[in-house]
Amino acid sequence: MNIIFLGAPGSGKGTQSERIIDKYGLVHLSTGDMLRAEIAAASELGLAAKSIMDAGGLVSDEIVIGMIEKRLTEKGALFDGFPRTIAQAEALDKLLAEKGQKIDCAIHLDVGKDELMNRLLGRGRADDNEATIANRLAVYQTQTAPLIDFYRAQGKVHTVVGNGTIEETSAKITAILDTLKL
Ligand code: ADP
Repeated sequence: MNIIFLGAPGSGKGTQSERIIDKYGLVHLSTGDMLRAEIAAASELGLAAKSIMDAGGLVSDEIVIGMIEKRLTEKGALFDGFPRTIAQAEALDKLLAEKGQKIDCAIHLDVGKDELMNRLLGRGRADDNEATIANRLAVYQTQTAPLIDFYRAQGKVHTVVGNGTIEETSAKITAILDTLKL
């Protein structure tokens, strides 16, 4: 099965991914983690991405689609932080179709704005300062939130209110995935 985690910065996509991948035998594909690894390795791609990420913008569709394409396997995947634009979502559908696969389910992690701000400000990552966070939340609203309707039109969206504890949220997610019996 192939699953997408959709949600604003700070909604818990990365944290929940860690808890879900082992249980369902999925490969974790986080474009944010991939980009941070490129920055740590001081690669050309990392250098190009760093200033964009520090400003809270989106790295180009071409770059992130290429990173995902390289890592797709026959095994099911959990996509975390990808797709973030309609163009990325369309590219992903196409790449999976070429492998005879598809997205089975999009989990929308829904967390209120105050809680998102608290979590991001408490996290201390390089791009977690107030100005960058404001921009990332705005970019999420304009570029990424439309994906909820994109996947809703395919009947794949399951919304999980993620304001509670890590355990409460992962219990809600596993309940959904278990019901789908993929
Ligand atoms: P968060 O969910 O907290 O925003 P991520 O680790 O998913 O954190 O992303 C961090 C940054 O990496 C984003 O703000 C963006 O600049 C870049 N990035 C990650 N994934 C993508 C993507 N799919 N498309 C464009 N940029 C991305």
